[in-house]
Parts: sequence; structure tokens; C-alpha cells
Amino acid sequence: MLRRFLRERVVPFTAHYGKMFRELGMDAAEIRGTADLVKLPFTSKKDFGTPKDFVIIPDEKVLKHQWSTLKLAVTHGPNAAKESLERELRPIFLTSTTGRSAAPVPFLYSQHDIDRLTEGGVRLMTLCRSERAWKHVNAFPFAPHLAFWQAHYAGTGFGAFMVSSGGGKTMGTEGNVKLIDKIDPDAIIAMPTFLYHLLQEGAAKGSRWKNLKRLVLGGEKVPAGMRRKLKALCAEMGSPEVSIMSTYGFTEAKIAWTECMSPEGEEPSGFHSYPDMAFVEVVDPDTGERVPDGQPGEIVVTTLDARGTVVLRYRTGDLIENGITYEPCPYCGRTCPRLLGKISRVSDIRELDIGKLKGTLVDFNRLENLLDDLDGLGAWQIELRKRNDDPLESDQVIVHAVPMNGSADSLKEEIGKRFRDATEFTPNDVLIHDWEEMRKLQGVGKELKEKKVVDHRPAEN
Ligand SMILES: [Zn+2]
Repeated sequence: MLRRFLRERVVPFTAHYGKMFRELGMDAAEIRGTADLVKLPFTSKKDFGTPKDFVIIPDEKVLKHQWSTLKLAVTHGPNAAKESLERELRPIFLTSTTGRSAAPVPFLYSQHDIDRLTEGGVRLMTLCRSERAWKHVNAFPFAPHLAFWQAHYAGTGFGAFMVSSGGGKTMGTEGNVKLIDKIDPDAIIAMPTFLYHLLQEGAAKGSRWKNLKRLVLGGEKVPAGMRRKLKALCAEMGSPEVSIMSTYGFTEAKIAWTECMSPEGEEPSGFHSYPDMAFVEVVDPDTGERVPDGQPGEIVVTTLDARGTVVLRYRTGDLIENGITYEPCPYCGRTCPRLLGKISRVSDIRELDIGKLKGTLVDFNRLENLLDDLDGLGAWQIELRKRNDDPLESDQVIVHAVPMNGSADSLKEEIGKRFRDATEFTPNDVLIHDWEEMRKLQGVGKELKEKKVVDHRPAEN
């Protein structure tokens, strides 16, 4: 699949990879299998200066004379061949990266890619053991982002009822609660932080969502503590049996993967990848060398059989804690490659000047995980400030917190203690809020993604 993909589509018809192979003095045929991919340099975010260079744009003359085109024309006639190539190659749809740090990058899809997206969605539904007769709510925000469209095509492809609410930005948390009251869904698909606010508000207003069987999460990482808190809220609302599944997807892969349903109380099964749609490598983030199976490293993805925008050896910047495995899944028995353990961002290590500790490297993944894992903590936000708002002063770390139950004082103490255990410092302050205030701070219903970490440090110049 990789050989054909490179020879007939990627190398002849994408500007970026065509140039790469020419500069390497390589012929597409020299990549004989996935093992040979190491001969190619990585692709990373900074390479997307001209997104069009990653799009398969066929040269008609070359396309016409390709063996596969001739075969198509001979077997189905020239009109059908033309129609088939249109479906395969003409871009008709796009999703885009969110681009918090860089300009958004559009990823184009042909009908062939939408078929893949749909097939991937059907697999998500199957792995999550959804049923056709179930009612689903898709609460991802309306946006040209993979998460929303992956969920949408999962519903249409699987042939099950799905209502898309557009998330908080479209109808507010309250609007979502009312919609869910009416629909009484079996499954909700959403971003974890938003869903958490939704369940919290629903529970506070006395909603009973007794039909819930699945929560499918995407768009953010899902720490164990978050799963626990979501499950507790569902139990409070009448659905103690709910199963929680996390998905992993990103614009560049043009597909999302999910965990299968693990038995009650067991560890998650890892993200089940689709080897017919992408080849996944795990590499040492420093050396770029592949690491052995089961070892942590950065996730690198090569799209297979995609059209529109494609990537080879794309460095995600995501670290997978326990690497990749090709062993059959202990729960569902599937033999697809699985990515195991927590996912964290390579770039979430930030440098802070805390008091006398200049240039302290702080792993924000770890801070986020320890806050999510804290049972007495309902919701939180980490805010970075400068002392007296003076750019030359030291950094301050403020934790905003909503207590779940129990006293605010013991929660403050516990947060300080957890910080000390995990890092070299304690927060400068822990400020206690109620849910309404926290929703404002996080921008629930205003932002596409709730703000868990905010940087309010003034720039130095
Ligand atoms: Zn499985």
C-alpha cells in the first residue's frame, strides 16, 4: 500500500515530497516497505509554510498515462474512469489545525478521504460498542476541525441517530443541558472539560440522564482523575454503568483512533490505530531514532492511501508514555497496532522564573495531571502572572480552584502539597471560586476549547 501510494500519488503529484525525493536522489521505488521510511527526513509543523505543497495535485498528462488509469479506462470506460478519478482526487472539503502558536494549516479532503473518514468513524463506533438503535449527542464545537467531523461521519456511517449541539459556543452549557434532557442519549461525544461542566451543571439543576452508556472524549488528553470525576457525576445523574472512552486524533492524520471498551475497573486498552490508513512510528524525540515496541517516544505518522493533503513521517510533538504494541488487545483481541499510556505534549515543558529559581523547567503536563487526579478538586485553572505585572519581575503561578466537597482550606493545603511533591515550588496563591466563576475564567461557551492554563505575563518589550 505504501509503495503504490508513494509511486502513483505522493512523489509524482505533491510539490513537497516530489522535491524531497529529487533532492535525496531517490526514486519512489526505493521505499520498498515501512522499514525504508527511515531513509526519509521527518515532516514537522514548520514545513507547512505552503500547505498546497502537501496536496496531491495530479498532472493530467502523467495521470493519463499511469498504468492504473489505463486499467481503469479499459475496464470501466473513459467516462467512468474520469468520474472515479474525480472522486478520488478532487478536494471538496477541509479541516484545519487550531493554530494557537502557528498559523492554521488547512488539510484538504477528496471524496475518497471522506469515505476513509466515514470508515474510521464506523470503526470508532464499533470499538466503543455503540449500537444502531442508540441516540448520540455530538457536543464538539461546530468548526472545520477534525473532532467535530469525525464524530459527524461516525454517526452517518454507522447509521445511528446523532444530534450535533455545536458545543458550548453555539447554545451555551444550559442549552446543551436542555437538549440532552430532551434527547436522553445513550452516548455523548465531547471534549472532556466541556463535558465535565455540562454534567456538573446538569447535576446541579437536577437533570437525570439515566440512559447514558458511553462518554466518548476527544480534543484534549484525558487523565485518570478526569475519568473518575466524570463517572462519579454520571452515577449521580442516574447512570452508574457508563463506560468512558478516550480518542486520539489530529488534523494531519485526517483520522481519529479510540480505545476499545475495557472491562469495569481495568486499565484503558490504548488507542487502536488503523494500519490500512496510517503507519505509526514511535521515535526518540531527541535522536529521531525509532524506539523498540513498548518504549516511550514521540508519535510519528505517515498517512496511507489518503488524497488531498498528505504527510510522510509527520512529527506530532505528542509523547506516548508506553509506546506502541503489535500484541493482540487483551480485551477485544484485535491485532491492530495500539498506542499505550498517557499522551503528553513535547512542548509542554515551560521555563519559569520562580523567585530565585531562574529558568526552572516546569512540566505542565504533570501539573495538569496532578490537578485532574485530585479528587476534592472540581475544576481548576493555572494562571501565570508577573509579580506586580512587571515584565522584569519573577513569574507567579496562581491556581484557581473549585472545591468538589469538603473545605476550601484543606483543598488549598492539598494543592500546595501536591505541587511540592511533583515540582520544586508551590503556587503563589490558590484562589477559590464557585462553578459560575470558573466557567467564566475557562471561557466555557465562549472558547472552542476551555482554557486550563492561561499566561497573563506581559511581554518584555
Ligand atoms: Zn481492544
